Amino acid sequence: MISALTERDDGQVLELIRKHGGKDFQARQISHWLYRHGAKSWEDCRNLPKPLLGSLAAEHSLRSCQLGTVDISRDGTRKMLVQLSDGEAVEAVLIPEGRRQTLCLSTQVGCPVGCVFCASGLDGLRRNLTRGEILEQVMLARELLPRGSKLTNLVVMGMGEPMLNLDELLPALARIHDPEGINLGARRITVSSSGYPKMIDRFAETEPAYNLAISLHAADEDLRRELVPHARCSVAELLASARRYFERKGREVTFEVVLLGGRNDRIEDARAMIAALDGFPCTVNLIPWNPVDRIAGLQRPSEASAENFAERLRAGGLNVTLRRQRGADRSAACGQLRLAMGTA
Ligand code: SAH
Ligand code: SF4
Repeated sequence: MISALTERDDGQVLELIRKHGGKDFQARQISHWLYRHGAKSWEDCRNLPKPLLGSLAAEHSLRSCQLGTVDISRDGTRKMLVQLSDGEAVEAVLIPEGRRQTLCLSTQVGCPVGCVFCASGLDGLRRNLTRGEILEQVMLARELLPRGSKLTNLVVMGMGEPMLNLDELLPALARIHDPEGINLGARRITVSSSGYPKMIDRFAETEPAYNLAISLHAADEDLRRELVPHARCSVAELLASARRYFERKGREVTFEVVLLGGRNDRIEDARAMIAALDGFPCTVNLIPWNPVDRIAGLQRPSEASAENFAERLRAGGLNVTLRRQRGADRSAACGQLRLAMGTA
């Protein structure tokens, strides 16, 4: 049985408090301690009666994850290892930029999609994260923030394919968004997906409206299939789902393209992308590939050729951002963390 309170919605917390003889308003007090003030244990819930806390503590914990090692890079990026209660671990990355503090979080242990350039998919999927495990990455990151600064943006771009774990991700995002709790605006939350139009449609039905990023990588069908071998949909289907998202939510979609030298940054790749995205209000976020130790045969493009590719797309009428290169130190090992700031 999962016993952490972070796994429960408000109704379930209320039920639990009643079961342990508490009053209804005490359920709200506990949620405030947990999500607003970041309580780590029952003793932190200071204005609640000791017998009630004791009875709850005998059966449930507030949280289930622990902070493991934290790597701090020269540019201030903090890469956290988050230890899960069954011994697995995922990464979450906190990226400061000016007054912004962006957190990149994970949704799965591993990933089943197997994009050829990505470290997360190398060993397939181990398991989905639970809603509490997704949410607790935000709570742990908050505790690492420098005094006086707040989490300003969230990108779901860590390990895993978010659309394959929507049942857990959506309740976690609702908690993160909840003005009574962590209180992060939906406009500051971006979910990135490598495909899955049906799930994107479901995501589009969700309130509130979060931002959507689609990992496109190539507009040419064959090339995209090479880069995203387990993609279940065609480029056309993927673009159609992005359009539906835009029509339904009125939110501009971001397309991410991991640039691989000589592979998807050629003139014909730019042409195909311009043709595919013609007239669609969107931004293309180009991310020069971060090399991964266990992946051979791919190349990060030079800055000049990445800039060339960006210029070609711009000349074709597209709105383009190119990820600025940050210090090539320890943080560079995480394939995903760099693009985070371009899309949220
Ligand atoms: N599975 C989702 C979200 C997590 S990956 C997705 O694919 O969108 C988030 C982003 O990181 C994706 O755009 C992905 O293509 C990119 N990425 C993965 N590995 C990378 C690497 N080694 N270098 C640069 N970007 C990478
Ligand atoms: Fe999975 Fe995204 Fe990595 Fe592809 S890029 S393997 S979908 S995490």
